[in-house]
Amino acid sequence: MKLMRRGQRSLTRLFLAVSLLTVSLPHPAAQRVETRSKPRLVLLLVVDQFRYDYLERFGDLFGPGGFRRLLQHGASWVDANYDYVPTYTAPGHAAMLTGAPPAGTGIVANEWIERETNTQVTSVTDSSVKSLGGGLNEVGYSPRRLLASTVGDEMRLATNDRSKVIGISLKPRSAILPAGRHANGAYWFSTQSGSMTSSTYYFKELPNWVSDFNRARPADKYFGAKWEHLLPTSEYIRRAGPDTPVWENLDHIVGDTNAFPHIITGGARAPGPAFYTALDYSPFSNDLLVEFTKQTLVNEKLGQGGETDVLTLSLSANDYVGHHFGPYSHEVMDVTLRVDRQIATLLDFIDNRIGLQNTLVVFTADHGAAPIPEHASVMGLDGRRIRFSEILDAANSAISARYNRGKKTPDPTADYIFTYDYEGRRRGGLINANLYFNLKALERDGINLDEIEQVTGEAILRVPGIARYFTRAQLLRGAVPAGDPIARRVLNGFYSTRSGDLVIIQEPFKYLTESADAATHGTGYSYDTHVPLVIMGQDFQPGIYSQSATPTDIAATIAAALRIQAPSNSIGRILLEALVPGKEKAGVGRSSRQ
Ligand SMILES: [Zn+2]
Repeated sequence: MKLMRRGQRSLTRLFLAVSLLTVSLPHPAAQRVETRSKPRLVLLLVVDQFRYDYLERFGDLFGPGGFRRLLQHGASWVDANYDYVPTYTAPGHAAMLTGAPPAGTGIVANEWIERETNTQVTSVTDSSVKSLGGGLNEVGYSPRRLLASTVGDEMRLATNDRSKVIGISLKPRSAILPAGRHANGAYWFSTQSGSMTSSTYYFKELPNWVSDFNRARPADKYFGAKWEHLLPTSEYIRRAGPDTPVWENLDHIVGDTNAFPHIITGGARAPGPAFYTALDYSPFSNDLLVEFTKQTLVNEKLGQGGETDVLTLSLSANDYVGHHFGPYSHEVMDVTLRVDRQIATLLDFIDNRIGLQNTLVVFTADHGAAPIPEHASVMGLDGRRIRFSEILDAANSAISARYNRGKKTPDPTADYIFTYDYEGRRRGGLINANLYFNLKALERDGINLDEIEQVTGEAILRVPGIARYFTRAQLLRGAVPAGDPIARRVLNGFYSTRSGDLVIIQEPFKYLTESADAATHGTGYSYDTHVPLVIMGQDFQPGIYSQSATPTDIAATIAAALRIQAPSNSIGRILLEALVPGKEKAGVGRSSRQ
């Protein structure tokens, strides 16, 4: 059933994707030099929360220089899916250039519970480093929790550090993780200071050019900016319906409404943290990042040395906008049309400076997004928000019924589920659909972990909207049904010392997070896993490829094209179908610039 559905879908996609390629642009082969050389620059271009279907739904509205150029001159996979859960920003950004799922990178989510310190940690917070350019009490960030090497790390190893590797994003995790542990630098936007910032992990002080960039207060010029429809409103109504459906009312942005035009102030009278946060939720933050990326290319002289440099850019506004308005909104359609233009600007800049024929461009996303559950419901798809308390209550009562049969008070089982303090609140150990047990309490009372996992899992299954569960014991034994794609995705997303003891799987279109967002992502279903994957460069044959692929294939594929060691935990496949013949073979005796 699943296979048939996939096959049909792939054909439809193939047709739609081919129909996108009707504008004729000069073929890059025409500009190719006779002998191929290594690229001067690898550009990883990520658009956060960009579902594959945006290329199809809005494809006829793209300009010539952005996605249309990538699809026409690049190799594009129409069936690229992440093969793990949870499909969040940090695991996705860690996967692309390591070639590894969370089971290899250790980046199991954006935040998780660290049992040793009894705290919630993020994928990149690091108390041993300090923020450079951030607010007064801003925490430091580094790639220390990333356990695998990246393409950039391997490039630096291969060239005795002559290659430069730099990561850029609004979000620290999206700047830091793709660049890797041995990057020259990573830069992200601080909503506290309104500046592009970094940390002492990379250097003692921000480079002078970054301080100069910040001194001009480039974010402040967007204060009060009016975000209007880029194209006539009728295009949006035809594709997305009215601008303000009821399900968009869930989650208001401070100082804004859910209708166009959006005025970007954050409800403040002058630039400050409220405005900088509102800026994140507007397409203008992508403009800021593109401007900073141009400055990086110039000031760091990327692509100008004798070796291949690696630049990763993750555009985050699309994720913020998607969470607020959902994937079928006017706002998401508009931020998608705008990111197409922003990417065109950057590609033109690189073409003038370095030459796109000398650049290897990879375009992908870290995850997709599900429709807003209330919208899914209206469409007959049985959307529902599952409250954390429903799961914790079901778990606690089943545990008490089984292990406190004498109904003792106080209930000795009350502390069996892990709890921790977070922002002044005591929280139950449920995060990323992982439930954590208090292993010390279980040991104290001689409770068998395997058994309590089963008892609790069965109870949680009775919560409406929960489909399945996997236990730690089961995952450690690898005891999952063969050929079960969800089980495989759970196993690929599990890292023993960081993941929980019970992994809960909701039914499709069910929303299982504590955040106030209207829409979200994180599951192993196609709306979250299916993303664009385009590679454009001399070593790749342009075309539409219907073979299954996953963004964890990127690292092995470009490592082969660059003829460097694949990253340490890379398990991806080399996407041979698109490599120009001969490029996959080891270049014994070839000079790096042939
Ligand atoms: Zn997100």
